[in-house]
Amino acid sequence: MEIIIATKNMGKLREFDRMLRPLGFEAAAQSAYCPDLEVEETGTTFAENARLKAQAIHARTGKATVADDSGLCVEALGGAPGVYSARYAGEQHSDDDNNRKLLKELEGVPQEERGAYFASAVCCILPDGRMIETEGRCFGRIGFEKKGNEGFGYDPLFLVGEKSFGELSPEEKDAISHRGRALRELCRRLKEGEE
Ligand code: IMP
Repeated sequence: MEIIIATKNMGKLREFDRMLRPLGFEAAAQSAYCPDLEVEETGTTFAENARLKAQAIHARTGKATVADDSGLCVEALGGAPGVYSARYAGEQHSDDDNNRKLLKELEGVPQEERGAYFASAVCCILPDGRMIETEGRCFGRIGFEKKGNEGFGYDPLFLVGEKSFGELSPEEKDAISHRGRALRELCRRLKEGEE
């Protein structure tokens, strides 16, 4: 079954595709069906934003749709940047700008107080309107400098053990990441629905 992935972020699209393909889903980019659709992320939680995106695309296309809303929550910053992760340094700013701002905000914060987690809320709506919602988290800490060239976003700064997400292969990241966890739970529930 073709399934529309509600994102314009190519890094995320690749992650979804890698995980859904073995389950028989063909991931289609949002841009293939509704390139002009802009969904305002007005929710105050990851789950609310994921639902808004999935509902908008499903309403427009009637097709199976998956949306995720994700971000980084840093303990020392009271959970920021949270739902504002993509635009932490401002609208139209790059991953690099966001990473620079994060390092600046954490200047002088010692290693033991740099705990953080990535969260991903996933919302899937099937053609008949049935909705499945899942959430995954991955706990780690924020490093003092960027490490590795893999992945996207805050990956080079997010450490699990001694390695950053930016140093993990895609498969290694999927195995432990917030999105991997949320998507595996979604896949489990999709399969359950078939039985
Ligand atoms: P979204 O597209 O509204 O879900 O924004 C998510 C933002 O959170 C991204 O632009 C990244 O800055 C950050 N983010 C979410 N997941 C990841 C990840 O797996 N690695 C690095 N950054 C991430």
